[in-house]
Amino acid sequence: MSGDLAADGRHVVIVGGGFAGVGCARRLAHHDDVQITLIDQNNYHQFQPLLYQVATSQLAASDVAYSLRKLFHDKLNVDVKLGEVASIDPATHGVTTTDGERYAGDALVVAAGSQPNFFRTPGAEEHAFPLYCLDDATRLRSRILGVFEDADRDPGLINQGALNFVVVGGGPTGVEVAGALADLIQDTMSVEYHHLAVTAAQIHVVDLGHTLLGAFSDKAHDYVAKVLGRKGVRLHLGVAVTEVGPGHVSLADGTTIRTRCVVWGGGIMAPPVAGAAGLPQGRGGRIDVEPDLTVADAPGVYAIGDVANIPSPDGNTHPQLGSVALQSGVAAADNLLADFAGKPRKAFHYHDKGIMAMIGRGAAVAEVGAHRHELHGVIAFSSWLGVHAMLMTGVRNRIDAFVDWGWDYFSKTRGPQVLDRSEAARIDWGEDAAPEPITTAR
Ligand SMILES: Cc1cc2nc3c(=O)[nH]c(=O)nc-3n(C[C@H](O)[C@H](O)[C@H](O)COP(=O)(O)OP(=O)(O)OC[C@H]3O[C@@H](n4cnc5c(N)ncnc54)[C@H](O)[C@@H]3O)c2cc1C
Repeated sequence: MSGDLAADGRHVVIVGGGFAGVGCARRLAHHDDVQITLIDQNNYHQFQPLLYQVATSQLAASDVAYSLRKLFHDKLNVDVKLGEVASIDPATHGVTTTDGERYAGDALVVAAGSQPNFFRTPGAEEHAFPLYCLDDATRLRSRILGVFEDADRDPGLINQGALNFVVVGGGPTGVEVAGALADLIQDTMSVEYHHLAVTAAQIHVVDLGHTLLGAFSDKAHDYVAKVLGRKGVRLHLGVAVTEVGPGHVSLADGTTIRTRCVVWGGGIMAPPVAGAAGLPQGRGGRIDVEPDLTVADAPGVYAIGDVANIPSPDGNTHPQLGSVALQSGVAAADNLLADFAGKPRKAFHYHDKGIMAMIGRGAAVAEVGAHRHELHGVIAFSSWLGVHAMLMTGVRNRIDAFVDWGWDYFSKTRGPQVLDRSEAARIDWGEDAAPEPITTAR
């Protein structure tokens, strides 16, 4: 295979400008003899780990999104194209967008990320708010602010669950959303909504598993449950969500929670484009790749980041993490350069620097390094801020984020409480007002 690419041109088409696609494009861009076409359905690179902070009015949307054109403005060999890829032709290394544009190269890198997985839960796709992209985050922010506005106008709506928030999923996304929501309600809403019984607000976290933050240690499980408990968050562990309605959530243990704001952090799967190529798909619909990130029987095609099942040395696959995505992007670029030079490729080796999750103001857990040295509390919180600021793209975004974090931490007031998505905030309170039977969780 490497011989083919070495003999041909050096034009690489990359689908997706997330951590993986940008990591790959940046590495290749250092080589003037390589042409890169980077296609994304958005004109920006988004920083998903901080979306929950946009949703809970800690950061502005512009803090977590960075223009792809600006990112590559000084790289003349990178051509950024705005378009949603609808189909992929592995044989020609070509893609076609929904508006009929076609781009083909000498090699193709699929880096299209993930999408939420609702696990066919009835009503979830229609009524729950996922948190996967910037659009999701601004919609959720408007819904959170919208229910407070409605309850302020008509306090009777509290009995219809106006101030009940249900977070589905006890992984990092669910825990981070629950902690940030609790801080928003306790520190900000209680001060700003003078005439509203803000103390009536409830946050529920539901997970099928028996612990929060399953990937962390038992000590971390206990710590996160304790911190969330102190913030008043109610946990429903070991129980499945069976239905999401316009005004309620039903659980498998018979509990019904009235709510108008269900946050879905329940899982991810490959986006439709992963299945549009006829490439081998495995767990989660993701594209199965070889240890060197190429796709079997598809010469010149690579899949990286969340969209790929990347084999790990323990026989499993690497988790869907920003660090895996970024490193796999760089590794794919190095293997493409090896292909061009007629040299052998290397297997992807993941440098595991650890995992972290924020639980709210001043509280976080971190397991650092391959040996998982565990940190809790303010030290983990400070490390989390530092690591995430460094990973952000653009100096200005970092400075803006630090100003917002500092302001929020010391003043306990949020900055960007912008209700800009009226369609997400608008609620038909007559719909599903009182499903029967009702067993509101205590
Ligand atoms: C809420 C949340 C919090 C997270 N927190 C953390 C964390 O704290 N630490 C961590 O390590 N990881 C975290 N992750 C995981 C991490 O964000 C992902 O693993 C990482 O973003 C994957 O990078 P990627 O480039 O593969 O995909 P993405 O970053 O999703 O990028 C995929 C890109 O492809 C584009 N795209 C998709 N389909 C098409 C198409 N058909 N046509 C054109 N473009 C397309 C998208 O617009 C997107 O820009 C979090 C994820 C989420 C959702």
